[in-house]
Amino acid sequence: MEATVILARCPDNGQLYGMRTQKMPDGDWRRNWAFPVNARQAKSEGYDRMEIRGSLRYEADYPGCPYCGAKNLVQCGKCGKLTCWKGGKALVCGWCGIRAERFEWVSEVRVSGGDM
Ligand SMILES: [Zn+2]
Ligand SMILES: [Zn+2]
Repeated sequence: MEATVILARCPDNGQLYGMRTQKMPDGDWRRNWAFPVNARQAKSEGYDRMEIRGSLRYEADYPGCPYCGAKNLVQCGKCGKLTCWKGGKALVCGWCGIRAERFEWVSEVRVSGGDM
């Protein structure tokens, strides 16, 4: 069973969290756990270097963002990173801070790490 952790940021408090994702038998990656993490920990674990491609849909037992409880994500059109999405159109990216409506529903996402 392949599993990895990818990172997202909560726009409510700007904090990082890790999402445990697992490769399903159909080859898709789905999320099943989320936990708070800090930048140093994420770097030493290599979470910032993970790369996956999949729908990132969540499993029934996925607990949601550890800070705000959101289960859905959007991918920023500018920096390509993941931020909680609680509904509504405009939001601010938790990473680069742009306010935009170019955020897209995550249907298939290619995530790679990078600067935190
Ligand atoms: Zn959140
Ligand atoms: Zn961004």
